Amino acid sequence: AIISRDIYQENPCVRFTDIAGLDTAKSLIREAIVFPMKYPELFHPPSLLGPWRGLLLYGPPGTGKTLLAKAIATECGTTFFHVSASSLVSKWRGESEKLVRVLFELARHHAPSTIFMDEVESIMSHRGSENGEHEGSRRMKTELLVQLDGMTKSHNSDPDKAAAPVFFLAATNLPWDLDIALLRRLEKRILVNLPTTAARECMFRAYLPQTTTDAFGNLLVDSDLGYGELAHITDGYTGADLKLVSKEALMVPLRQILDAMEELHLDDATARQPLRRAPVTDAMV
Ligand code: ATP
Repeated sequence: AIISRDIYQENPCVRFTDIAGLDTAKSLIREAIVFPMKYPELFHPPSLLGPWRGLLLYGPPGTGKTLLAKAIATECGTTFFHVSASSLVSKWRGESEKLVRVLFELARHHAPSTIFMDEVESIMSHRGSENGEHEGSRRMKTELLVQLDGMTKSHNSDPDKAAAPVFFLAATNLPWDLDIALLRRLEKRILVNLPTTAARECMFRAYLPQTTTDAFGNLLVDSDLGYGELAHITDGYTGADLKLVSKEALMVPLRQILDAMEELHLDDATARQPLRRAPVTDAMV
């Protein structure tokens, strides 16, 4: 009963190839987690060269941190737990620590698994400790740190006896706000930056393919659409922004069809329901 709807398990089905650009981030992640999981025989001794258990993805909002976390879970074949850090905060005494504990217990039960904690700065900010934070938040922070320490300790150097791993991935837009104790446990830190021009072009091609049709089979995207030009004029946009721009762009032709359909329905309705009484005029008064 303690597990709210915000803590869920899913099969993310996102591959690295679904993510445009971010080549450096992808290759760092492969090296840190995916390859040690895939080729354990190459990463000996495992206690030193095994996968990194704690990893921080940081960068502006909407740049693909969640997508990368899902891709890690897919590529490593792990169960995926996605929680927003703020959803763990409960107003009930003792409940927040319990939620953290249950989350890690569940992850261990379903191991190998990946816990992805979004907006981690909302519970692990160093400002909290400066401003005399709430006793409950302090206990929750401590519980999270204890669980993270437990994960590292349970790593057995004998691959036959080693328990299936649990990876902890945290994401933040405000890395400079993070509690130093948490940062120490997330030694591998990976910047997820704004997309390059090439990545933006790639995203436009994925969001606005020329084969897009409406319900009647009409093509919605111009055959001479300049993807390169679109990428050029959207410098500074995030992947999430480009998705919205593409959605708006697709609404333009669709709106024309909708307007025509609405007009048709209106004509039809007025034909069925003609004005039955004479209009009121000045002369009647
Ligand atoms: P936040 O910090 O706000 O949680 P985020 O960095 O986790 O954001 P995502 O949720 O991964 O960002 O991305 C939001 C959406 O933007 C994705 O669902 C995807 O459609 C699109 N997107 C962002 N970056 C990329 C990318 N590199 N390739 C493809 N799609 C992307």
